Amino acid sequence: MKKTLLSAIILCALGCSGSENIPGGEYFNPGKTEEEDYSGYPTSYEFNHPCALISSTDIGRVKERIAAESSSDPVYSAFCHFCENVYAQYPYKANPQEIIVRGDPKGTGVSGENYITVSRDAAAAFQLALRWNLTGEEKYARNAAEILDAWARKLKMVTANDNNQYLCLGFQGYTLANAAELLGKYPGWTSASQQKFKSWLRTVWLERNRWFIENHGGSNNCPLHYWSNWELCNLASMLAIGIYLEDIETINFVYKTFREGQGSGCISNMIPYNPVEDPDGHGKLAQSMESGRDQGHATLVISLCAELCQMAWNIGLDFWGMDDNKVLAMCEYTAKYNVRPSGSYLTGAMPFTEYAYCSGCSCSNQNHGSIHQSVSPSGRGKERPCWDLIYSHYKYEKHLTDDEVYYVRLFARQLRYVDGVLTGDGGSGDPRYGSSSGAFDQIGWGTMMFYKGE
Ligand SMILES: [Zn+2]
Repeated sequence: MKKTLLSAIILCALGCSGSENIPGGEYFNPGKTEEEDYSGYPTSYEFNHPCALISSTDIGRVKERIAAESSSDPVYSAFCHFCENVYAQYPYKANPQEIIVRGDPKGTGVSGENYITVSRDAAAAFQLALRWNLTGEEKYARNAAEILDAWARKLKMVTANDNNQYLCLGFQGYTLANAAELLGKYPGWTSASQQKFKSWLRTVWLERNRWFIENHGGSNNCPLHYWSNWELCNLASMLAIGIYLEDIETINFVYKTFREGQGSGCISNMIPYNPVEDPDGHGKLAQSMESGRDQGHATLVISLCAELCQMAWNIGLDFWGMDDNKVLAMCEYTAKYNVRPSGSYLTGAMPFTEYAYCSGCSCSNQNHGSIHQSVSPSGRGKERPCWDLIYSHYKYEKHLTDDEVYYVRLFARQLRYVDGVLTGDGGSGDPRYGSSSGAFDQIGWGTMMFYKGE
């Protein structure tokens, strides 16, 4: 369906119910939406639902490969493991909460952090909705709709006495919206239920995501105080919700922030220096804002950025190719340092330009800055299930050579099932979920949904 900017504004005016339920105070402030100038940005997008992270084309391709039941096919192997995953089982019982806390619970009325409940249930809603799309078995769609409706009925706010709540608002906001996007055409999820869910996504999630990005977490912080992964997850939530709601203004906000924003979610701040030639002769490399911090976060930037780029791609925006494939150079850099192609790390050179984090900035607290002078070995080797998504895009959409995607290709192979066996550990022995909350930081299932090789 083609949607114009004007109709989106009218729908917003009718559907935005305000945020009067959210208490005052800096950390809770939903803020006032600023007027943005979108001249030069699209006035319409083409929505071929589902078209957030997973497209209808992806579903068609994967269904054909599943039907062939070839045990040597990495897609079929990944699907078999997906069907065994605890968050893809029928019946799954949701555990909705009235208030979700991520961060300091002081003043929230909740005794401690409880965001794992929405992390698990959002993952289950997404996977059950995906399982319905791939198998056609109605019970999975019904179960996914029950989970989404249960949360929309009960959850009033995501909160905390600090800004950690915005990580949950980002990660789980975008998972929930992707679940809804996959379920939008399920006849059993009524129009009335979907309208209620849309309104809930807008007030409980989207408005908060936007406040965080517009204000960089509050007036005490400079625009680069929050690392890239914070803005990326909130941008991902906004884009997924924007696609599901067909909200042109929200999509353009994400597009503009990624292309020319002041914060760490802007491509030129996330990747602060121009790519350089790989000293070992394979394509180009670019460190990210978080390369000198630690690899757990540096790889999170990759998985979030990749899923953000793919959602944009599915509505016709090419974040992947922006600034001469700059995102690829960041992926190559991060893969080169973290991949273990034969069980051990590569020993090639890692070029690094000194990076000053929050040094002499406008943050009110001047004690947290640091100077990075080399890639950080902390957390080296972190596996996140995003590499087949990146590899497939540059290989099959941009038609780059294997050498131009050299390290990404190696990492994708490390996380792929070969003859039914997973070669890397994939994060605690599973291609999608480990046991910690960090396993819910991205949606994953990259090999199943994006592998396009023979
Ligand atoms: Zn700062």
